[in-house]
Amino acid sequence: MSLPAVVAESSTVAQMPEAVRNVCDLPYDVLFELFRHLSAVDVTSLLNTCRGAHKHTQDPSIWQRYCSQYGLRSVVNFGGLSFYTVYTQLLHPYGPLLGLWASDYPYRGNIIEFRLIPGDDKEQGGLSTSTRHPVLPNYVRALKIGFDAPFVPSPRTTIASQAPSPRSPNDVPPKARVSCSVLPPVDHAHWHSTYVEVVPPSSYGYFMQGYRKPFPHPGFPPLDALWYDSPRGLPHLKPSIPVLVDQRELVRIYPAVRLPIIFASTTPHMKPAAISIHCSGGDDRCTQMYQPALPFDDLSTAPPRYYPLRWDIRAGVDPSDADWKLGTLEGLWLGVFGPYGTEVLHLTWHQEEEELRAIKLTGDANVPRGTLSWTLHASSNASPPIPTSAEWTSELPGGCLVYTGTGTISERGFPYGITVPLSIAILNADDIHIFWDQMNDTRIYTRYKGREGGAGC
Ligand SMILES: [Zn+2]
Repeated sequence: MSLPAVVAESSTVAQMPEAVRNVCDLPYDVLFELFRHLSAVDVTSLLNTCRGAHKHTQDPSIWQRYCSQYGLRSVVNFGGLSFYTVYTQLLHPYGPLLGLWASDYPYRGNIIEFRLIPGDDKEQGGLSTSTRHPVLPNYVRALKIGFDAPFVPSPRTTIASQAPSPRSPNDVPPKARVSCSVLPPVDHAHWHSTYVEVVPPSSYGYFMQGYRKPFPHPGFPPLDALWYDSPRGLPHLKPSIPVLVDQRELVRIYPAVRLPIIFASTTPHMKPAAISIHCSGGDDRCTQMYQPALPFDDLSTAPPRYYPLRWDIRAGVDPSDADWKLGTLEGLWLGVFGPYGTEVLHLTWHQEEEELRAIKLTGDANVPRGTLSWTLHASSNASPPIPTSAEWTSELPGGCLVYTGTGTISERGFPYGITVPLSIAILNADDIHIFWDQMNDTRIYTRYKGREGGAGC
């Protein structure tokens, strides 16, 4: 554990009076001020180093300050636990989970959101029904990290291994538990233990074994993923060492009737560390939450890896406003993908190429997560509109901005993407209509405004 720089400064120590040679000799109120500049881990090691200060290890005013960094200002609903326990056992190990995560689950992907309630909780956005308009996420509680898990814990649930640790065994605070249930939390009988693990960087990726040859599944996250939230970090848990099996040779001997099949093997690209969620309840409904049904067999054995997804939720600007520009369309969007229903897109503006790009965060059996769904070419606004179906143009309000662009389509399994022309209309700050000429279909895209933006739960 690293000690704060102030402890190691030998030159200043030399100038100190004899009585204050050691930082531990400083009065506690001075130490307390010093803590303001230190990480929680450093504060813990300092308190454990100083005999006199050790009795202040659980001083609530220290830990209240660290808890408030996560927006938690009261622990009244934590069953009588202290700020110290809530911070060291819950927020320190698991705090980096807070926010959105996108998984590399083949084709469909998946997005989950961890948020802090006066407890600690995780809920999942499920996006599936097929309609003309994008369906807002239906948030389903999937797991809970807290101190009140009502099931009998298995040893695997106590994994807060790198939390600042107290010195004396008498101080050992209760560990936070990870539990999951697809049913409302009041029904305790269905709660069971689960665990969240940190998985190290990996060069493994998914492949599809077709009838003639294998082809790589799009990497996730893509190398230049602008949605990837690198400052977030990962939970402070001991990284696991997953057993990865290269299945490339195995699928070669598979009978043709079992093809196509998804398998895992090494790729040229290293993916960053991630988290994985393991449910030990043996409940299919839990598995379906993280691994929604696929129309292909899947030989891979490791659970999906979730990567931190930037909270890119923005207030739109109306195209009639003087501040409007294509860049104001950036952020998270929901779009309809025909029979596959609603999928999640991340829109980014690329000034140099004058392009607005929509990357799929969730996908489907034709065009998977991680691929470029469509691109709007800004310069096309000047050129005359391309001829498209009369039905499409008749639906558009007068004076809306129309651009041309390109979209990605594919046969099932995504052996390769095919680029097709599109007509793209910006209706207002939050709605885009795209006419996919090849499919003779207008698809509607709506800005995602977050849980409070009308999700209705
Ligand atoms: Zn479960």
